[in-house]
Amino acid sequence: MGKHSKIEWTHHSWNPWWGCTKVGPGCDNCYAESFTRRLGLDVFGPGKPRRTFTTKHWQQPLHWHAEAEAEGRFALVFGNSMCDVFDKEAPAGLRADLWQLVKATPSLIWIFATKRIGNASRYLPADWGVGYPNVVLLVSVTDDKEYLRDVPDLIATPARWRGVSAEPLLGPIYLWADDIATHLLSKLDWFIIGGESGQDGIHRPVSPMHPKWARMIVSACLNARVPVLFKQWGRYLPGSQVRDLFTDAQLCDFKITTVTQNGIEAACFDVGKGRAGRILDGIMWDQFPKFQVAA
Ligand code: SF4
Repeated sequence: MGKHSKIEWTHHSWNPWWGCTKVGPGCDNCYAESFTRRLGLDVFGPGKPRRTFTTKHWQQPLHWHAEAEAEGRFALVFGNSMCDVFDKEAPAGLRADLWQLVKATPSLIWIFATKRIGNASRYLPADWGVGYPNVVLLVSVTDDKEYLRDVPDLIATPARWRGVSAEPLLGPIYLWADDIATHLLSKLDWFIIGGESGQDGIHRPVSPMHPKWARMIVSACLNARVPVLFKQWGRYLPGSQVRDLFTDAQLCDFKITTVTQNGIEAACFDVGKGRAGRILDGIMWDQFPKFQVAA
């Protein structure tokens, strides 16, 4: 993965525009906002014009599609690492252009993660039908409350592929708590888990992920036969895994933050995203739906 993207679960990253408005705790330390601010761009927040791009930028996915088609394979494209496609302040006309581009590139599997699934019915194209075959809709949630709020809306939205991106995971998600939770999970095609990375923001510092939260999701997905991908620990690595990587002397250098689940404390070490990696209890969970190239 990651031919033209550093993101673990995609070949390419591309954006129809840059900029967005924060809508919840998962946005507190939004990397897209910090990145654009570092570039001197003011494209985040209500009323702030989003950054748009040239024709050359819009042609890039056509090249990826041609390459994939010639080789008889598909390529994954994360289509909104720097924005939300269901943002009500999307630049005029660009969402329609995006849907046209998606239709013109059937050898690309487009992945859109949103924190605004409630807006989807208003902004999906008129010919969406049961969902374009090459689009994955992911709801981006941080905990059980957001999961139970957003996944029913996702399931009510026509889509060929549906999934959850639980990143940053800031609390537990009880996927098998009752019949409703079990039903919701059974309707998903993919579950992605990730801890928080980036810089401490003005709203709150970066939070560690309790290893139990990740284990609970992996276990429930295996039971329900839903492909699960553990994307990253984020900045913090739990104590249960640091001993394999660091000496006692090295551990003294790292800030420790404790996170609790059902009274069980996990001391987590701020080792940085790169060093924390994406191994959970000795296993790299790297499962994908069985995507197919368009016939
Ligand atoms: S929805 Fe995504 S892009 Fe928009 S502010 Fe939140 S984290 Fe950032």
